[in-house]
Amino acid sequence: MPANRSPARPPRHLADLGPAERRAAAAELGGPAFRADQLSRHYFGRLTDDPAEMTDLPAGSRDELAGALLPRLLTAERELACDGGTTRKTLWRAFDGALIESVLMRYPDRITMCVSSQAGCGMACPFCATGQAGLTRNLSAAEIVAQVVAGARAVARGTVPGGPGRVSNIVFMGMGEPLANYASVLRAVRRITDPVPAGLGISQRGVTVSTVGLVPAIGRLAGEGLAVRLAVSLHAPDDELRDELVPVNRRWKVAEVLEAAWGYAAATGRRVSIEYALIRDVNDQPWRADALAALLAGRLAHVNLIPLNPTPGSRWTASTPAAMAEFEARLAARGVPVTVRDTRGSQIDGACGQLAGPAGRRPPAGELPALQISARVP
Ligand code: SF4
Repeated sequence: MPANRSPARPPRHLADLGPAERRAAAAELGGPAFRADQLSRHYFGRLTDDPAEMTDLPAGSRDELAGALLPRLLTAERELACDGGTTRKTLWRAFDGALIESVLMRYPDRITMCVSSQAGCGMACPFCATGQAGLTRNLSAAEIVAQVVAGARAVARGTVPGGPGRVSNIVFMGMGEPLANYASVLRAVRRITDPVPAGLGISQRGVTVSTVGLVPAIGRLAGEGLAVRLAVSLHAPDDELRDELVPVNRRWKVAEVLEAAWGYAAATGRRVSIEYALIRDVNDQPWRADALAALLAGRLAHVNLIPLNPTPGSRWTASTPAAMAEFEARLAARGVPVTVRDTRGSQIDGACGQLAGPAGRRPPAGELPALQISARVP
């Protein structure tokens, strides 16, 4: 994206608007304000944006209303599945051609969607595929919500193996730094968690917003009165290494980031997730585990150790199983809650740091089925 050209804005959509704004928008279109509530019930409750299914709306104005308030924002370009169809990554094309990805993961006890908040990412973490291409633009709230609605619809209609169900968890860990697109992410969180028909009715406690450590935005989020979980992508306990792995650390140091995280935990009562991608011979030394434990012991925190998903042509690769086990054991020995995170989706480049769009690695042809989606997608 040339620096002097600002990106076009996505069309306005019902999911960009709060309930009062929606009613005002319906009235602007010349209909009664309650049309907004009807459209909301279709979109957030029945998960449809197809005017043909909206039989409670007057036939003469259905198309116009849906066209004005439920414009198509994302078109599925490609879907890849693995784990017997219970992990699915969708590549979406936005109205301006920007490409983003979302991943749906069905587990026995929950259904999680990992969503993108930006097309690309400007944070330039050197081990991350998304970061290599830079930022294209922020997504609108409705473009974020549309990823969730599409997944929720697929699950509700039973097209994901395991029978009809409900999406229970949302993680903002796809493309982008969520807190760098604060206003849209906040609106999307409200749409995702507001009760039906104002929103999708997913529990705030099931939503995780991740950040590389934008300190002022963490403070702002702490004051929003939400119960969402904060995940801090730390990746190193020392500034010297973190300056390299997470370049924004040159602006906000480890101590400041963690102070902000503890402030978030105090304001919300929620344990902060500390994300730590284990990178072979880079940040996986036993002394770094001890240093991390010293920072976190006694805090309301949980460490997720993530074996790095290597990207092609990159010098960064995952730690050995022995190094991972040692790292985990050192944290646990100091009373720091820790788990080695599932890297589900890594076969389809759907795991953290691998959502790169078409520039990212493709699985070899035939490795996984590519499903063409022709249904109308919000
Ligand atoms: S790791 Fe996250 S913040 Fe860093 S470049 Fe990748 S997507 Fe952006």
